[in-house]
Amino acid sequence: MRTIDHLIVGGAGGGGGRTSPVYDPNTGKIQAEVRLGDQTTLDAAVAAAQAAQPGWAATNPQRRARVMFEFKRLVEANMDELAALLSSEHGKVIADSKGDVQRGLEVIEFCCGIPHVLKGEYTQGAGPGIDVYSMRQPLGIGAGITPFNFPAMIPLWMSGVAIATGNAFILKPSERDPSVPVRLAELFREAGLPEGILQVVHGDKEMVDAILDHPAIAAVSFVGSSDIAHYVYRRGVAAGKRVQAMGGAKNHGIVMPDADLDQVVHDLSGAAFGSAGERCMALPVVVPVGEETADRLREKLIPAIEKLRVGVSTDSEAHYGPVVNAAHKQRIETWIQTGVDEGAELVVDGRGFSLQGHEEGFFVGPTLFDRVTPEMSAYKEEIFGPVLQIVRAPDFETAVRLPSEHQYGNGVAIFTRNGHAAREFAARVNVGMVGINVPIPVPVAYHTFGGWKRSAFGDTNQHGMEGVKFWTKVKTVTQRWPDGGVGDAANAFVIPTMG
Ligand code: NAD
Repeated sequence: MRTIDHLIVGGAGGGGGRTSPVYDPNTGKIQAEVRLGDQTTLDAAVAAAQAAQPGWAATNPQRRARVMFEFKRLVEANMDELAALLSSEHGKVIADSKGDVQRGLEVIEFCCGIPHVLKGEYTQGAGPGIDVYSMRQPLGIGAGITPFNFPAMIPLWMSGVAIATGNAFILKPSERDPSVPVRLAELFREAGLPEGILQVVHGDKEMVDAILDHPAIAAVSFVGSSDIAHYVYRRGVAAGKRVQAMGGAKNHGIVMPDADLDQVVHDLSGAAFGSAGERCMALPVVVPVGEETADRLREKLIPAIEKLRVGVSTDSEAHYGPVVNAAHKQRIETWIQTGVDEGAELVVDGRGFSLQGHEEGFFVGPTLFDRVTPEMSAYKEEIFGPVLQIVRAPDFETAVRLPSEHQYGNGVAIFTRNGHAAREFAARVNVGMVGINVPIPVPVAYHTFGGWKRSAFGDTNQHGMEGVKFWTKVKTVTQRWPDGGVGDAANAFVIPTMG
């Protein structure tokens, strides 16, 4: 049995006798075990980070950027290997795994320009003989805790910006698919990143709690499900850390009567079922406006869904692969039953799906519900599987209200040819990321990613300038170079006003 170890300076580190199985979701078999670390493991990583970080922070930013350039080159050179490894543990199809790596790499491209971004502000003559300038300094040691569903992109969202801005970074990836994060950290080292600046510790709640309580860790970035995000946020903040914690989602796609329904069905198929629905920016709820739109959409959706090919992650014809593990498959199928029990109409049932030759794999067939209503728990909660729900809205106002009042507020999309309706929708909807005829509005790396309501706790987004803000603190210097004269003694006791 292959063991996946921590990647910390000085070896795998002691402590943590426990392990957790890593499955091949295509076969349902255990393919490796990952070592679960504990306080001792973390202490070793923190000590190495503390030793390395001051030198890295003092390295001029263009040299730090050169490591980013080289890392980008190495990831591109190893793209096929990374994508295959990612698919083998996650289950998403190879082309989708390449997208996972590529979206992370785009954050690294942003980080290649870090010298420009870190330039401070300067005011000459802010008062008589006085200049004021500000600088962004790294926090010291940061940690990232990441979910299973984007094992390349999300670790790179965090580590890229944290490292480029001069911090040391400790990554605690999901224990369900830990190999790609380790491989990326190895490539960073190969790219010239000094030892101790990026380390990977594996673990579960025990390790997460150790990170949240560790006095030497200044900031924690978390992405995962909402209850845990909220817990991480509260515990980390109580320990005096800077914390950003992204949570779950239930994104809606509004379909206006004037939308091009063929385009919508095409977009929805990918957005609802791609990666087996295991995306925080998936579109599991479609809201057609008006009964006629709903009927026409349903008529086109059914054959499109029935044509979807579910296959192993190496099948280049497959639209999506298995879900991550047996427990998650079970959870999705239970939610489908809940939807039925609550009175939704099950139009296409993906339960009991079996792929010939891979009967033990964690596959779930595409599922479609109609006449889902806002009171149903199957609507309120995140299912995170290949399940699309139609919620019929009588009018535009209801369509704006549904995503706005939902507990999650990660992404939302509107499909229409009417610019006025789209503009109104984007301005009024209570959701953090909006797509207009774009089903998965994940912002590009130099903008920022973040939802609202229970989809994110904290006040800064991931990557772009928000990421730079999160991983740095501002120092403002007010300087005066007196020319030898002594100032007015009486004024020394009055708060300076620069007047
Ligand atoms: P998860 O919450 O189970 O795990 C996330 C991380 O938390 C993992 O590293 C895990 O080891 C750790 N963890 C698990 N249980 C814990 C506990 N009890 N205490 C402390 N730490 C714990 O999430 P997941 O299943 O890996 O990922 C899917 C979830 O992530 C979905 O809800 C999805 O919407 C969300 N997600 C959100 C975003 C976003 O940006 N908003 C992006 C991707 C995924």
